[in-house]
Amino acid sequence: MSRLVVVSNRTADPRKPAAGGLAVAVKESLQQTGGVWFGWSGRLAEDAGSEAAHTAGTHVQPVGNVTLATLDLSREDYETYYLGYANDVLWPVFHYRLDLANFDTRFAAGYRRVNQLFAQKLLPLLKPDDLIWVHDYHLIPLAAELRALGVGNRIGFFLHIPMPPPLIMAAIPEHEWLMRSLFAYDLAGFQSQADVTHFSHYAEAEAHAEVPSPERLRAFNRTLRVGAYPIGIDVDEFVRLAHAKEGLDMFGWMREEYARRQLLLGVDRLDYSKGLPQRLYAFRELLARYPETRNSATLIQIASPSREDVGAYDELRRQMDSLCGAINGDYGELDWMPVRYIHRNVARRRLPGLYRASRVALVTPLRDGMNLVAKEFIAAQDPADPGMLVLSRFAGAAEQLKEALMVNPYDTQGTAQAIQRALTMPLEERISRHEALLSRIRKLDVHWWCSTFLQALKHVEQDMPL
Ligand code: UDP
Repeated sequence: MSRLVVVSNRTADPRKPAAGGLAVAVKESLQQTGGVWFGWSGRLAEDAGSEAAHTAGTHVQPVGNVTLATLDLSREDYETYYLGYANDVLWPVFHYRLDLANFDTRFAAGYRRVNQLFAQKLLPLLKPDDLIWVHDYHLIPLAAELRALGVGNRIGFFLHIPMPPPLIMAAIPEHEWLMRSLFAYDLAGFQSQADVTHFSHYAEAEAHAEVPSPERLRAFNRTLRVGAYPIGIDVDEFVRLAHAKEGLDMFGWMREEYARRQLLLGVDRLDYSKGLPQRLYAFRELLARYPETRNSATLIQIASPSREDVGAYDELRRQMDSLCGAINGDYGELDWMPVRYIHRNVARRRLPGLYRASRVALVTPLRDGMNLVAKEFIAAQDPADPGMLVLSRFAGAAEQLKEALMVNPYDTQGTAQAIQRALTMPLEERISRHEALLSRIRKLDVHWWCSTFLQALKHVEQDMPL
């Protein structure tokens, strides 16, 4: 059996509980077969200067049946590749936020340099029949860099974030290079069918790609296989967490604390793609329009700190502080505050109890690759008295989770209406919607995601390397 080599921007200790979708998924894929997990250590080779980072070796450490291999980055590389191109160009553009993108040419140069560095450092660790799985937008050109070094292995790519429509993609000055780089892979996986369609249209429009079948694109003398592989969660693990001590303690405490109230919950990174201000506008509209929700509906919004070195996030933080303060000032009573805003990370093991105690979850991103919180909320519910999910149609999860109450987060009044509908939904309807949602997330869980992608990669007919 081929060995699996996973490459992602960051790695993590596979023995420890993983935080975030990518880490959970990668851990899952590697633990089944063993293999190598290669990525940035998260450290800067600062004192030694940027030259040293390029010549320094890779740290290789066996952890169970997985070999963790990491490299350090120079400060310059960190600033241009990670903060610059990944988080200040690709993240905003792929989330349709051209207004927030900073197309500084130094960022593109750093991105290319770090992808070359990854390829050079990975090369000596590779065996001829390894299956290589590259993750996410930080590493789009990695396969092309590996091919340039003579690597002929099967290489798959999975994009965890959305693929934007062609004309948005075309705003990136280097988009043609990114597109050509993607054709160096054998298989490119996306979160949703909408993403696959965007990519196919883009390749047709900008690279005159031929589309011999919906799963195959031909351009640059290569055939690239494409497909939608919506990422899932480990449903059983989440149910277990909901019944573990911390989950039960949290549930009991929340139920007692909010016995007379209706709890609404949002759990997100503090990111402009998550639609947090729009969510608060809708919640304010709910309080204004449905007086019975006053002194009752309470929104707990967890917004875990994220990318605080990137400028756009400061502005969002200020906006959230001021909006939460204004709503509490306008509607709060001596014994009730409508919004509990927590700008801290909440440990994953405590979330299931919180999900289960909530009547409604608000998952209303402006754009999101998938959104795992939506799936975690469903998995944690009591099937006999489940809470209801209010879901943005712009989350990748919306393609699957049809029985949620779907909203357009830009439509404040429509969203407030949907929240009120969720709060007042009869038990019977909640149970039948939850049953359908749970069976969907069980069927397409993280194990399905991983094995389906890897099976497709294993069986792809390979072209000659570029
Ligand atoms: N999460 C967490 N603590 C927090 C906030 C989020 O553990 O305070 C976890 C959450 O349970 C989920 C992940 O972080 O597994 C967020 O994944 P999602 O796909 O919803 O969004 P992303 O942050 O990847 O854009």
